[in-house]
Amino acid sequence: MIDAVSALTRLQEGNMRFVKGLRSVETMMTHVKREELTEGQEPFAVILGCSDSRVPAEIVFDQGLGDLFVIRVAGNVVAPSQIGSVEFAVSQFKTRLVIVLGHSQCGAICATVEQLKRPNNEQSQNIKAIVDRIRPSVEPFKATELWNDEEALVEQSVRANVRASVNQLKHGSMLLESLSDDDLLIVGAEYSLETGEVVFFDGLPEEN
Ligand SMILES: [Zn+2]
Repeated sequence: MIDAVSALTRLQEGNMRFVKGLRSVETMMTHVKREELTEGQEPFAVILGCSDSRVPAEIVFDQGLGDLFVIRVAGNVVAPSQIGSVEFAVSQFKTRLVIVLGHSQCGAICATVEQLKRPNNEQSQNIKAIVDRIRPSVEPFKATELWNDEEALVEQSVRANVRASVNQLKHGSMLLESLSDDDLLIVGAEYSLETGEVVFFDGLPEEN
């Protein structure tokens, strides 16, 4: 078992390699681990990220087979099945680090902004289910100057939505809440499509 702080360092180092266009030997040779991993897995981090094709967790963190337990859903929203997936990983594999990974120019955030500005009643119920989970992170900006600056609005909404997902994981699960005394760390982060860099938000347990 890798503790949360070491796991975070490993992700940061991996992302630094990715930004520089480098890959570790372990990642390049990851296929040799396939057979050994049939015995079981011990992923060192859980990543709840967006489905966006440009943000695959294993690639942007330069990790290989068996390293990351990844949950991807448009807009990195938290619904019961996402909480359940995180609970599964932390209880089965003793993974101690959970990252909620948002990203710049997120389409799900843009769709939510669009829906709030120009409501469309024809929207699919299933897409609406995602938009409705993001909406509370965007709505407070209505009363601010950001509302008229769409680029900045999306940027801030991406961050607010990551923080909201972190909070929902922290407080929406008795299991995860009880494990926070056992060094489980749930941290928000944002991937930049422009630079390839992941910026981790303040990961201290009391952060909101
Ligand atoms: Zn996205």
